[in-house]
Amino acid sequence: MAALDVFQDALSRLERIGREAGIDPQVIAALRQPKALLTAALPVRMDDGETRWFTAYRCRYNDALGPSKGGIRYHPGVTREEICALALWMTLKCAVVGLPYGGAKGGVIVDPKTLSPMELERLSRGYMRAMADFVGPETDVPAPDVYTNARIMGWMADEYETIHRRKAPGVITGKPISLGGSFGREEATGRGAWLVIRRFAERTGLDPRRARVAIQGFGNAGYHVARLLRQDGYRIVAVSDSKGGIYAEDGFDVESLHRVKQERRKLEAAYCEESLCELVEHDEISNDELLALDVDLLIPAALEGAIHDANADRIRARTIVEVANGPVAGGVDERLAGRGVTVLPDVLVNAGGVTVSYFEWVQNRQGDSWTLERVRERLEETMVRAFDATWDLVEQEGRAPRSAAYGVALRRIADAIGAHGDAAYFRGERA
Ligand code: NAD
Repeated sequence: MAALDVFQDALSRLERIGREAGIDPQVIAALRQPKALLTAALPVRMDDGETRWFTAYRCRYNDALGPSKGGIRYHPGVTREEICALALWMTLKCAVVGLPYGGAKGGVIVDPKTLSPMELERLSRGYMRAMADFVGPETDVPAPDVYTNARIMGWMADEYETIHRRKAPGVITGKPISLGGSFGREEATGRGAWLVIRRFAERTGLDPRRARVAIQGFGNAGYHVARLLRQDGYRIVAVSDSKGGIYAEDGFDVESLHRVKQERRKLEAAYCEESLCELVEHDEISNDELLALDVDLLIPAALEGAIHDANADRIRARTIVEVANGPVAGGVDERLAGRGVTVLPDVLVNAGGVTVSYFEWVQNRQGDSWTLERVRERLEETMVRAFDATWDLVEQEGRAPRSAAYGVALRRIADAIGAHGDAAYFRGERA
């Protein structure tokens, strides 16, 4: 999908679901554009002495429910429209799980794999210098996203504190533990998705020991969800990254795949015992072939727009679990539903990351540190409650899961906007 279309597509879907759910059009109007969007040009001194300029964005989409919250993405394909779409989805996501946050997103147009570690640090500190008056613990709180990580968050927090001449760990989440990060943040998105799948299996009778799974994207989110599903007995038959995929009918040992990917920077089908890893039999497949596999769960965990107009009819999975943000284009929702494919939506499935980010922010503001067990317990409570609220609507009203999750979110946002007074109140029609 063309980048420009991502935001339009997100808005069309929002309007359609808003109408179906009977949401006040004034609330949808409030969500049709970001509240504030900052574009910056970041000068970075490269290791060879030259200065290169990088375009950076930060979008604070909506803050009806609280300070805005959302990750920062480093990717050559970043566009302003993509950042706005992601920030809109963050607004809905925080509302689905009931966090006191609005939605935001940031990004830099860069291929971070081409930068040295020192160039990456200068870029990250430069990003925070440009955004230091636009973000803050009470206004807008960034976090990691695609190709950013805890170390980068640590650099950015440090830069913010240097500029403001005070400690402010709550300015950013997903930090290293030693700099005020939370236990459990790294695995949170994958764990949250796994909790959703577990509850979905309980409520629909899906048997993990008979279920086959394909996962597109084996980064932070993809790895952790694969690891936890494997522990439950799911067979992970296919995995891919940006360079392509691998398939084995008997399933992969996820920990071995991960270890080999960390060591060799490459996705290879392997089985490891102690210090020895051996390559195992497998087929190489393309990302398109992975998406078309006949599996019980198809988990897109890479980038938005993976399933679109041209490949939607080739999907044979029973259920798509949107671990990535926006992997299913808005225009194909109904076609998939018509073919009996259930789509568990991103705003619910991947909300574990922002939920533990919220826990990190709470700990920072209280000067506290929670145990991993406490983080996991509270995450489970939050995800199960959000899943059940969504699934109750699916069962009681026959709504598609995405429509139900958007319904839950939009009602919460509508209540917050309405608490200031709606049109009927100001016309004197209601007290
Ligand atoms: P990551 O950078 O750790 O991993 C991204 C993975 O996707 C890598 O394995 C990469 O090789 C792969 N990839 C990139 N392009 C691909 C392509 N065309 N085909 C197949 N694989 C491709 O990123 P992440 O944090 O795991 O994020 C993945 C998705 O999950 C994104 O959509 C992100 O917005 C979403 N998400 C992440 C978090 C989080 O906390 N990390 C939270 C919510 C949502």
